[in-house]
Amino acid sequence: MSTSNTPHMQNFIDGAWCDARSGKSVKAKSPSTNLILATVTSSDRVDSQNAIVAAQKGHEILAKMTNWERSSLCNRVADEMVKRRDLLAQTLAEEQGKPIASEAYPEVDAAIAGFRNAAEMVKWMEGSVIPAETPGKRVISIRQPRGVYGIITPWNFPINIPVEYLAPCLAAGNGVVWVPSPSTAICAARLMECIVAAGLPDGAINLVLGPGQSAGDEVVSNPGTHGIGLTGSPQTGKIVAQRGAGKPMLLELGGNGPLIVLDDADVAKAADAAAFGFYFNAGQVCAATGRVLVTRKNYDEVAERITAYANNLVVNDPLANSTTMGPLHNAGGILKTTQHIEDALTKGADLLSGGKLLAGQKSDLFFAPTVLGNVSEDALINIDETFGPVAPIVVYEDEAGLLQAANSASQGLATSVYTQNLAKAFQFGEGLQSGLVNINSPTCYWELHIPFGGAAGKDSGVGRIGGISMLNEVTQVKTITFDIT
Ligand code: NAD
Repeated sequence: MSTSNTPHMQNFIDGAWCDARSGKSVKAKSPSTNLILATVTSSDRVDSQNAIVAAQKGHEILAKMTNWERSSLCNRVADEMVKRRDLLAQTLAEEQGKPIASEAYPEVDAAIAGFRNAAEMVKWMEGSVIPAETPGKRVISIRQPRGVYGIITPWNFPINIPVEYLAPCLAAGNGVVWVPSPSTAICAARLMECIVAAGLPDGAINLVLGPGQSAGDEVVSNPGTHGIGLTGSPQTGKIVAQRGAGKPMLLELGGNGPLIVLDDADVAKAADAAAFGFYFNAGQVCAATGRVLVTRKNYDEVAERITAYANNLVVNDPLANSTTMGPLHNAGGILKTTQHIEDALTKGADLLSGGKLLAGQKSDLFFAPTVLGNVSEDALINIDETFGPVAPIVVYEDEAGLLQAANSASQGLATSVYTQNLAKAFQFGEGLQSGLVNINSPTCYWELHIPFGGAAGKDSGVGRIGGISMLNEVTQVKTITFDIT
């Protein structure tokens, strides 16, 4: 159902709002109510090509500015986001489905901080002077923007994840073409309104709303882009890596991080952290707790506490302040969650809570927070990322082999270890094949400036977002030598 007041979302290319050349559009639906929220222009390759040309011009203007001037642009975007904070949070809750008070506002605030951090960091970005072996030579290296940077973002954090790329790209002087997930195009357009209001040079940041397979692929494969940032699934990561082969690339992909409870852990703290990590954003988080690995000694207490946490969640309309978990974002998520639960039960798991759709809601995307005990090691849910609100608990007789079990996973993004023993904390911290290991914190503990990304040899991506690491990703080192003889 739509009304005549349905808003229409457009691209922003070369300093102007515009529809896709094809004139095609699609409808954006709310996952919590099924209502039509907006119509969205649907771009294809030609729109991305136009945006790439515009971004080259935008880059050339930005590159001539000082770091201080670009820093000020970033702060202006943050100021505009502050003015629209309520609209951004409401759009996020309506279109993505996360609870407004506990998750949507914090995501908007993180994104505002992301622009402010980039504004600050870029002012202190230094090069180096390298001593030369040859008399009469001087050598310096400086960091320069890569040029035109293509950014492709997912739907699970549709305000903050784009800012992780957009803010450092702008601060460093890259022109940008951004293709967000089509299912959170309204969030993207609302964020773009803040960027436009900040008064950037034409072409500096271009928004193209359209499918990843066409509009996004053009950005990845077109020789006019000089760096690519993708946050998405491992499957998309593999395609993008091939289609953009040879370009500098940052790939932030999936996880299925275990939270490991060692014998001496503060078990209550560990179980609560696991539960938080399982149900935050209804489990649709790359750094979600994917599974708990626990010894028999602590199993009962961990299972009881996680079940109590799950049963206390308020699963409801994301726009209600009391809601603590919203719907899943799409039907694919429901299907995968259901398949993973059925597979685990077939392989002998115990259903401790949930396990089905929640009746009586305005859409069929609300899933009951689920707890599975005694999950077998070969269950799909232990092996593969679920991206849904399920807590699988895998039990081991003792601690021997826990490190090896954690490292046998194909993902290596974010992991937790609960222990009070310093030696064990180091043993696991250094030994886990994971980009991030949180000792005595949830898997999804992270701050904007902390390096974050997948471990080598796993399917979780390459490169590091966060703080200085990200500025380094979107810039390149230029070496200049001088002969002064
Ligand atoms: P997805 O891979 O389906 O889509 C991600 C983006 O890629 C979307 O914008 C999509 O339109 C685009 N895309 C799809 N095919 C493409 C192609 N051939 N060429 C170019 N672009 C293409 O992922 P999703 O469902 O939107 O997001 C969920 C996934 O993202 C999960 O696996 C999750 O773990 C991962 N993720 C990772 C991080 C991280 O920081 N590592 C953060 C959030 C989400």
